[in-house]
Amino acid sequence: MKKRIVITGAAGFIGSHLAETLLDRDYTVVGLDNFVTGDRANIAGMANRAGRDFTFIEHNVSNYITVDGPVDYVLNWASPASPIDYMDLPIQTLKVGSLGTLNALGLAKAKNAVFVTASTSEVYGDPLEHPQKETYWGHVNPIGPRSVYDEAKRFAEALTMAYHRTHKVNTKIVRIFNTYGPRMRLNDGRAVPAFMSQALRNEDVTVFGDGSQTRSFTYVSDLVDGIIRLMLSNENDPVNLGNPREMTIKAIAETIIRMTGSKSRLIYKPLPVDDPKQRRPDITRARTILGWEPKVQLDEGLVKTIEYFRTKVG
Ligand code: UDP
Repeated sequence: MKKRIVITGAAGFIGSHLAETLLDRDYTVVGLDNFVTGDRANIAGMANRAGRDFTFIEHNVSNYITVDGPVDYVLNWASPASPIDYMDLPIQTLKVGSLGTLNALGLAKAKNAVFVTASTSEVYGDPLEHPQKETYWGHVNPIGPRSVYDEAKRFAEALTMAYHRTHKVNTKIVRIFNTYGPRMRLNDGRAVPAFMSQALRNEDVTVFGDGSQTRSFTYVSDLVDGIIRLMLSNENDPVNLGNPREMTIKAIAETIIRMTGSKSRLIYKPLPVDDPKQRRPDITRARTILGWEPKVQLDEGLVKTIEYFRTKVG
């Protein structure tokens, strides 16, 4: 019998890659999405390849979720995830992190399914410890513009652990660091798609602040591999997944300009409120518990992502 997986946010960037990889590993996938930030194009060809067993339910998971039949895993991936999206959709972001997670946990409990939730490096806020270990409690502004995402995800982690401790649901929490790859939205405002769309159009590349803030960028296939390893593991405590290769935002902007052969120049804009100054995962836990290591080099991942964005830039 094939294992059956429910993925909320299946039309999103990471959700759709997860769905596709799991279908190719012979799981049955039921995808849910309401297309607030997801895209129909991401799931359009999902069921086309022979042997893939994919069904889709258009649904807002902040409302009660109904899925008929047995379910072995619930992957809780629905949420706006880019800063401009969640600041534009503050209430929806808080609702999906809280009510959406509650409904997805309820589904997992009812079906006796393993539950995996998409958490984020944002739970560490603007971190005072570097690199960030899972044991770090974070430095989060509870009322700032980013709080709608950060606190929703922190609440989702608390709720997940409560279901684990109280109802004995087999839960997993993955703290996802900056991830990039095909299917990111051109205009989602995040650094990689913003820089690529600007560079491919030979427009000014907008660096916020002086560009000395750092991030660590993971290619989406590495992330998906780590998520599936966690899903199949016995681990119930949070696990960071990210590439520890840290770089400044100015450096990634310059790399993208060089790799696209662009004539763009850097321009500097004000740093958004509460923008974290540095971010790098400590992935000791993922290495030891999951035997996971990011494999895709930055240049290799950027080439594939640039190829995708070339098809999208008009
Ligand atoms: N950033 C930038 N220019 C842009 C978009 C983002 O300089 O056009 C910066 C942003 O201020 C942050 C970093 O790039 O310091 C990563 O931003 P992103 O929105 O990708 O994700 P975050 O890590 O902040 O959630």
